[in-house]
Amino acid sequence: MAEITITESDVNEMVNEVSEAEGVDMTAALAGTGVVTTLAASMEEVANEAFVSYKAALIDNFSPGLSPTAFEIAERAADDAARIHARNLATRMTQTELRGVARTIADGIESGLGPRGIAKRLDAVKGLDRTRAATLRNAIDDWTKAGLTPAQIESRTSALKKTLLSDRKLTIATTEARFATEEARFIEADSTGSKWKEWITAGDRRVDPVCQDHEAQGPIPLKESFNSGSMQPPEHPKCRCSLAFGTTDAQKDRMAQHSEDRAAQTAAAISEEAA
Ligand SMILES: [Zn+2]
Repeated sequence: MAEITITESDVNEMVNEVSEAEGVDMTAALAGTGVVTTLAASMEEVANEAFVSYKAALIDNFSPGLSPTAFEIAERAADDAARIHARNLATRMTQTELRGVARTIADGIESGLGPRGIAKRLDAVKGLDRTRAATLRNAIDDWTKAGLTPAQIESRTSALKKTLLSDRKLTIATTEARFATEEARFIEADSTGSKWKEWITAGDRRVDPVCQDHEAQGPIPLKESFNSGSMQPPEHPKCRCSLAFGTTDAQKDRMAQHSEDRAAQTAAAISEEAA
């Protein structure tokens, strides 16, 4: 039995949200296309796969030196965390995919395509996020303008789509691995009694403004979120940040001093670049 269940009404709720955000009425265009059914099924599959692999990755990342008691606590926390993470991941993926769908519908209407033409395009971008869906649509437009035959276009479309899909999977897998490493460190810190955490950036000019802001916050209670709402890095794809933890008040004071010094260093690196 599936650990995590996703229904069509979960997807329909997201369709409404994305329709509103993108200013495109998707409900009518999607009626009878099977897109919502497919998305619910693939979202459930993604969530359950992510649950299993994420939980395993978390446990893999615990230190070998963890005491049996701490390990037991950490393992339970890993189960909860993996459940939340898997649902969030499936939601984010479905949202980006729906944004791609919204763009496809809007472009189709703009270029005078009827419902059947739009449905055909929706089929072509299935499984792709917004950016990659646009790459595929633009390529199809170029091939059409260049006068390629429908058969040529079809074979090129399926080849490009294969590349884009595997590229998307790789990006997700890389981000997932980073999430698992940082979340495992967090769970472990909690199971061994840490009370404080601080955000550590790479301290150079490439630091993201949100990460810079987190670093400037200094030590905060372990169970509280940083200003953006994140509990731990990564804040964005390719985020290079990590956390440091402390248990005692004396450690917290030292962390505050470290954060202040590092925040100043990061600010200097960034303003040097701007000058
Ligand atoms: Zn970062």
